[in-house]
Amino acid sequence: MSPQPQTNDNKHPRRIVVAGGGTAGWMAAAAIARTMGRAVELTLVESDAIGTVGVGESTIPPLATYNRLLGIGEAEFMRETQATFKLGIMFDDWRVRGESYFHSFGLTGKDHWSAGFQHFWLHGRSKGHDQSYDEYCLELIAARQGKFAHLPDDGMNYAYQLDSALYAKFLRRMAEADGATRIEGRISGVELDGESGDIAALQLDSGERIEGDLFLDCTGFRALLIEQNLHAGYDDWSHYLPCDSAIAIQTESVRPAVPFTRAMAHDAGWQWRIPLQHRTGNGIVYCSRYLDKEAALERLLGNIEGRTLVQPNFIRFTTGARRKQWHRNCVAIGLSGGFMEPLESTSIHLIQRAVLRLIRMMPMGRVSERDVAEFNDQQFQDMEQIRDFLILHYKATDRRDSAFWRQCAGMAVPDSLVQKIELFRETGRVFRRNEELFAENSWVQVMMGQGIMPRTYHPIAEKLRDDELARLLATVRERVAHTVKTLPDHAAYVSSYCGAARAEAA
Ligand code: FAD
Repeated sequence: MSPQPQTNDNKHPRRIVVAGGGTAGWMAAAAIARTMGRAVELTLVESDAIGTVGVGESTIPPLATYNRLLGIGEAEFMRETQATFKLGIMFDDWRVRGESYFHSFGLTGKDHWSAGFQHFWLHGRSKGHDQSYDEYCLELIAARQGKFAHLPDDGMNYAYQLDSALYAKFLRRMAEADGATRIEGRISGVELDGESGDIAALQLDSGERIEGDLFLDCTGFRALLIEQNLHAGYDDWSHYLPCDSAIAIQTESVRPAVPFTRAMAHDAGWQWRIPLQHRTGNGIVYCSRYLDKEAALERLLGNIEGRTLVQPNFIRFTTGARRKQWHRNCVAIGLSGGFMEPLESTSIHLIQRAVLRLIRMMPMGRVSERDVAEFNDQQFQDMEQIRDFLILHYKATDRRDSAFWRQCAGMAVPDSLVQKIELFRETGRVFRRNEELFAENSWVQVMMGQGIMPRTYHPIAEKLRDDELARLLATVRERVAHTVKTLPDHAAYVSSYCGAARAEAA
């Protein structure tokens, strides 16, 4: 006879305690409350006095899946978070000053199963078809022209630019409606079980004690539970990703919102510009070794549009990853699990991955060390793959005009990235491994945008006769151009689909 499955060894439902109520805390609470319902008892503690990191506005396409999973209607979500659509990121001055390229969502051209579209495009170039690679990507051309619409059959790949504080508020309402309890207060101590070493309870300033079976550390850079108390360790990646400081500021919008984020390189880092419905998010990311705080602020203020709406928010960070994202009965979610700088808008996505992964591995009785090992492996792999993609932007540059860029160009990078770059340079090939977040199109766009051009291409491209090749290239280009022509202006589309002003007026 097969053994009976083990059931919950406690008499009460599993008690999950979320420490922290930033984007991470509320994303976790909303998803767990909605998915697990009364199978768990969920409590979130946050402190208004401490506040959140107050940034995080640009996202990537999988967030739509997360929202769908939670049953969140898109138009309502966008209205509530003052969101706009995002089709990609425009990178200015990264390879050389004065040049821009796009990393867009979606696909470029038409792949063959044996070879990506870049091989056919490269072959076309050798035959005198000198149109840019960009012209074969719908999302990219739509972004450049400031256009957007939903298309049938998920024909337009997009993400959102949103106000993350409003997103957290929105999720809080959902989580509370689904049974989560919120407690306002500062966590002043973490009580460990003398025998197991697990977290037994959180102590609050008020004297209150919150017991739990599983604790989610969503306390941001403080990593109050996972590091300050459980000492999970941190892998410092600042030798690969040297920026360690940021200043964020919000400004009035001075023009209709474009459907993309801008990442403008400067001589010691880069600057973001993210258009939302009600304002624009701006920030400078820099390496403090080469730029001091005052000069960074001056540079940021000298390159923004519109009146500033808030005081600048100064942030320090060390790029890297928590060595054990899940340790004992504590899971780090959000900035407590690590931070790899915001260049490709991946942090909110990592929260999403961690939360969904945790729900899949939700323990029944005691925490299984197998679950812990699996979770940590998967989470760390996600982070390493994203890390490599981010490093690519700094390493593959022709800029030598400042000490910062000379350091980036000369730095040693992980073998995994060397392999990716050299494989592409030699053969034009890119392979996506193990559910890697960034697919082939992302790598190809950024590698070519940063100046890495393949020396050869797949021989299958030569199977096409010249007229067949010309027809293939022209058909894709014309389809893209024709579709973009029919699209409405992005800002007008947002206003009619989910305009926040409409909600206020109603
Ligand atoms: P926080 O927002 O810091 O929240 C921590 C919570 O813990 C707060 O509620 C706080 O009150 C609570 N807390 C802490 N200590 C205690 C205590 N002792 N007692 C009680 N409560 C406590 N991500 C993206 O995806 N896209 C972006 O464009 C992007 N841009 C970024 C730009 C910068 C410069 C930085 C630094 C980050 C950016 N991120 C971005 C990351 C994103 O901001 C975070 O992933 C996201 O906000 C989640 O933060 P968090 O909830 O982990 O931490």
